[in-house]
Amino acid sequence: MFLNEIKKLDCELKLDRPLSDFCTFRIGGRAKYIIVVYDNDTLLKVCHICILHHIKYKIIGLGANLLFSDKGYNGAIIITKAKKIYRKNTAIYVDSGTTIGELIQYCYQNDLSGLEAFSGIPSTLGGAIVNSLGAFDTNISDMVDYVICYKKDDIKKRLILNNTECKFRYRDSVFKSGDYIITRIKLTLKIDNKKDIYARQIEYLKRKYDSQPITLPSAGSIFKRGDIIPAKVIDDLGLKGYKIGGAAVSNKHAGFIVNLGNARSKDVKNIIQYIDNKVYKIYKTRLELEIEYVDD
Ligand SMILES: Cc1cc2nc3c(=O)[nH]c(=O)nc-3n(C[C@H](O)[C@H](O)[C@H](O)COP(=O)(O)OP(=O)(O)OC[C@H]3O[C@@H](n4cnc5c(N)ncnc54)[C@H](O)[C@@H]3O)c2cc1C
Repeated sequence: MFLNEIKKLDCELKLDRPLSDFCTFRIGGRAKYIIVVYDNDTLLKVCHICILHHIKYKIIGLGANLLFSDKGYNGAIIITKAKKIYRKNTAIYVDSGTTIGELIQYCYQNDLSGLEAFSGIPSTLGGAIVNSLGAFDTNISDMVDYVICYKKDDIKKRLILNNTECKFRYRDSVFKSGDYIITRIKLTLKIDNKKDIYARQIEYLKRKYDSQPITLPSAGSIFKRGDIIPAKVIDDLGLKGYKIGGAAVSNKHAGFIVNLGNARSKDVKNIIQYIDNKVYKIYKTRLELEIEYVDD
C-alpha cells in the first residue's frame, strides 16, 4: 500500500540500500526505503504518505553532517533534490535541495556575492539552514530573509518564518528539532563583479584545501567550538592519527575524524568517546557534538 502510493509519484524509490552511499562519511547500514524527490510538491506528498502509513522518515540533503548507524534506518530517508532558483534584484528564492556549490555557481553567473566563503563545503541550502552554516566569519543566517517550511505534524499549513523566528545560533536553529520540512528560502545578496567574486571563491577554496582533509570521507568538524577549540585541544593531546577500526582522527585537521576506507559508525563513536573522556580529564569540560547521529 505504502509502496504503491510512493510509486505513483514522480520520484525515485530504492529499497534496502546502504546509507553509506548517501552521506559524505560513507558509513551506515541499510535503509528500508530511500526516496529521492526533485520538486517540493513531491517532497510534501512523500512526507504525507509516510505520515499516513506511520513510516518513520528523515529528510536529508547531501548527508554531510550525519553519522548513520551501522544498523541502518528502519524507515524512509528522503533526499531532496528540488533545485529551482528565482531572482528578483538582489534577492534569490531557492529550493532547499539546491547545493551550495550550485548556488555559488548561480551567483557567479548573476553577479551576486555573499556565499563565496562556503566554496568547497558539501551542503544543500536546506541542510545549511538547519545547521546555520558558517565559515571564515561568514554565516548563512546573515543572508536569510525568510524560510518557507511546514511543521511535520501539520503538513497542510505553509509557514513563512522570518530570520528572527528561525532562531539561528552557532550551528543551530529552530529547525534542528527535526520538526520541520523546509522547502524554499529567500536570501538577499550583494551585487559585485564576476572577477572579484571568482577570486574570492578560489581564495576560500584554497584555504579549505590547505587546512582540511577534504580528500577523505568525513562529516566535517566533529565537535562544536565552545569554551575550548576542539581541534587545538585534540592536537595538544597528541591525538592526531589516533585510530579505531577504519576511522581515525585526521592528521591534517584534528577536529575531523576521517573514514580510512572501511569505518563503521561504532568506530567513529568510540573515537569520539575516547576524545571526550581525555578532554574531560584535563579540561573538566565536555565536548558538544557538531555532527548528528542518525540511529534507528
Ligand atoms: C568536508 C566537510 C567540510 C565541512 N565544512 C563545514 C564548514 O566549514 N562549516 C559548516 O558549518 N559546516 C561544515 N560541514 C558540515 C556540513 O557541510 C553542513 O552541516 C551542511 O550544512 C550539511 O548540509 P546537508 O545538505 O548535507 O545536510 P544533511 O547532513 O543531509 O542534513 C543535516 C540536517 O538537516 C536536515 N535537513 C536537511 N534538509 C532538510 C530539509 N529540506 N527540510 C528539513 N530538514 C532538512 C536533516 O534531517 C539533518 O537533520 C562540513 C562537512 C564536510 C564533510
